[in-house]
Amino acid sequence: MSDPRPTVGFIGLGSMGGGMTRNLQRAGFPLVVTDLRPESATELLAGGAVWADTAAQVAAASDLVITMLPTPRHVADAVSGPNGVLDGIRDGGTWIDMSTSVPEVADAVRAAAADRGLRILDAPVSGMSVGAANGMLQIFIGGDADDVARLRPVFEAMGDPERILHVGGHGAGYAVKLMINQLWFSHLVATAEVLAVGVKAGVDLGVLRDALVASPANSNFVEHDVLSILERGDYDEGFALALACKDLGLSVDLARAVNVPVELSGLVEQVFRRAKASYGDRAGEMTPFQLYEDLVGTPLRLNPVEEGVR
Ligand code: NAD
Repeated sequence: MSDPRPTVGFIGLGSMGGGMTRNLQRAGFPLVVTDLRPESATELLAGGAVWADTAAQVAAASDLVITMLPTPRHVADAVSGPNGVLDGIRDGGTWIDMSTSVPEVADAVRAAAADRGLRILDAPVSGMSVGAANGMLQIFIGGDADDVARLRPVFEAMGDPERILHVGGHGAGYAVKLMINQLWFSHLVATAEVLAVGVKAGVDLGVLRDALVASPANSNFVEHDVLSILERGDYDEGFALALACKDLGLSVDLARAVNVPVELSGLVEQVFRRAKASYGDRAGEMTPFQLYEDLVGTPLRLNPVEEGVR
């Protein structure tokens, strides 16, 4: 991609899109942005970004359009709905969906705009809002290799260059992302169960976790990610439980579509839905852990390390 840097249209300035656009701006990409919440753009506009009232206006004023929206329905509304991307994008233009979503929306766009030569990629991400803020997202791209190569500078402004992965054709990015989330959420529920049972059986939480970390049952979740709860009581409000349930629903739907029975994934989805019913849509993605803390009768926390004791 030759300089001057292309103008990037960005739709969805939430927990993820906010950080991603700030990094695009820092990397020198002119931005045209929109969101249902105009206040989400204040900082970007102060930095020189241009506001557009509709997705169509974003697309008309940009060289490529990125969507970072909550669910497939939001993506469909913003792209194919009235005043959507399709109403503004030029023939041969590029649309990258970085939402955690499913291929059906893009497939419908491809069918509806078959004669317009649009370049469409799915490029969902991992790395939480902190990864979006520091430009170190992992990105899983489904689409044509020449588009991935052409757009690499855009992805590198938002992600870790070592972990920007072209994972296959259209839809492969969505599938990889959904499977990563499915496995991580399964680790969360499994870890919560064994810690709750072990503690109720009288084992010290720190001793139990150390034993798990040193055992063949260790996982990245037990070793690292669970510490945000055990040390800080942080259930990651940067990713809402409602969105985690959405991802688990899409994952089970995908399994159904490809005719693979997924008993475990179905159970994990229901545990997350129980937590959502108990703690609310906006609770953090790791709040299902709290269901097990409620069973123990106390939050599972490692004792703060006392000076000189260890
Ligand atoms: P969010 O709810 O914080 O932000 C979404 C933004 O989209 C909001 O600002 C909302 O106002 C805006 N929006 C909704 N519909 C719109 C429309 N039609 N037009 C314009 N703006 C619209 O969500 P998020 O946490 O940023 O997640 C975005 C996507 O990224 C989701 O698919 C999510 O699953 C995925 N994701 C999130 C995380 C995370 O840690 N938050 C991590 C990886 C992937």
